[in-house]
Amino acid sequence: MLTPLQVYNTLSHKKEIFEPIHAPFVGMYVCGPTVYGEAHLGHARSAITFDIIFRYLTFSGYKVRYVRNITDVGHLENDADEGEDKIAKMARLSQLEPMEIANFYMNSYHQDMSKLNVLSPSIEPLASGHIVEQLTMIQSLVEQGLAYESGGSVYFDVNKYAASNEYGELSGRKIDELLNTTRELDGQSEKSSPLNFALWKKASPEHIMRWPSPWSDGFPGWHIECSAMSKKYLGDHFDIHGGGMDLLFPHHESEIAQSKACNHTAPAKYWMHNNMITINGQKMGKSLGNFITLGQLFSGKHDLLHRAYSPMTIRFFILQAQYRSTLDFSNEALHAAQKGYLKLMNGLRILRGLNYANPEGTMVNDAAEAELKKLNEDLLLGMNDDMNTAMTIAALFNLLKKINAFYTAPASITNVSEANFNFMKQQYTAIVGDVLGLVEENTADTNQLILVLLDFYKEAKNNKDYAKVDEIRATLKKQGILLKDMKDRIDWAYDEI
Ligand code: ZN
Repeated sequence: MLTPLQVYNTLSHKKEIFEPIHAPFVGMYVCGPTVYGEAHLGHARSAITFDIIFRYLTFSGYKVRYVRNITDVGHLENDADEGEDKIAKMARLSQLEPMEIANFYMNSYHQDMSKLNVLSPSIEPLASGHIVEQLTMIQSLVEQGLAYESGGSVYFDVNKYAASNEYGELSGRKIDELLNTTRELDGQSEKSSPLNFALWKKASPEHIMRWPSPWSDGFPGWHIECSAMSKKYLGDHFDIHGGGMDLLFPHHESEIAQSKACNHTAPAKYWMHNNMITINGQKMGKSLGNFITLGQLFSGKHDLLHRAYSPMTIRFFILQAQYRSTLDFSNEALHAAQKGYLKLMNGLRILRGLNYANPEGTMVNDAAEAELKKLNEDLLLGMNDDMNTAMTIAALFNLLKKINAFYTAPASITNVSEANFNFMKQQYTAIVGDVLGLVEENTADTNQLILVLLDFYKEAKNNKDYAKVDEIRATLKKQGILLKDMKDRIDWAYDEI
């Protein structure tokens, strides 16, 4: 019997059976990247985590609307409320349009994600394209007295909200403790409490990204964009809200407060958070010199890297751990991941050529039949246990032993029924490719392979084996490669037809 799908809900701090609000439809909102730098391993883990959830829910028959935003405005320098907008600052320093910066890094993010075989979300809204929706929400909060204007900026009044709501329900933080750990206001601040966060910031004269509002020419705060865009595309109450654990506070806590205050209902039923990646046991950070971008991983160009790692190796490495556990990067771990990935790919290759053949008179062996059934069923146990891809991979390796046994002794295939065998083939292929999103990537150097064929060609010519000569010539021509018999050597060219 298959267990029902359970997911860990950060809001309730426990695993819950997944029951969508309007099955078979599922609405999922995930906080996407802020586009002012190259994507790194942290981006890959978050994107792959929710890609897996998107893929598995789809595989399970749900119709998923997956919204993942792009933060192209409102992410301030100190990750909270103060300082300049990061993209605007970069634009000012490099004398580019902020949109040039945002587009450059957005395209680069998309290219990296495509290499990692991360599916595109159903909708990918930009914060800068949803200013009206953000202003509407801010207006509503001001009207309800839960937000106030100060010096042209608008702040959310956390204390007022907390008087009739539980503030901190997601992150477990308590207002009193927060007040103790937050530095005192210097009296110059526009905020009436250090806990309050900006919904709208008045732009300074040199600030390039600005929009008109009832309060000032300015730009939105960071948190309000996700509340506004999830409301627009998924409604006031939707199924899953996700992101990295580092977004729990203040980002997601603020989102809950704003959305609840505005819509009078909790935004999401399930909150899901992926854990972080450490590098050789240390937190990743630019100042620590261990900040590795995906581009550097793919090319091997970083002091900490022994060599380049392929996108699928990185994807497998991330899937080897359940998304809520920590994951430590090291060259050794990546090397092991490559081995594991290639093992699964060899399984795919074997399966393609392995077919059920049941000569007359063979008998299905009950024990073998039951064993294969169990191996097939075990494949989904991990996914149903809070998307535990580590368990899924272990189950695939278990099944792989059986597949290899069939491969080395094809006669043993007839010990199981045709239906069972075909189901195994179909499940293995679907779980590796559709659910885990692991695809074959041939890293062989085409030029080297052609040179090997040229050697065979030369040898055949020397041996006057003209049938072979013609065959090699024709095979290569089919691939768009033209052999050239030069006076002193054999060369090749692209067939220009
Ligand atoms: Zn967000």
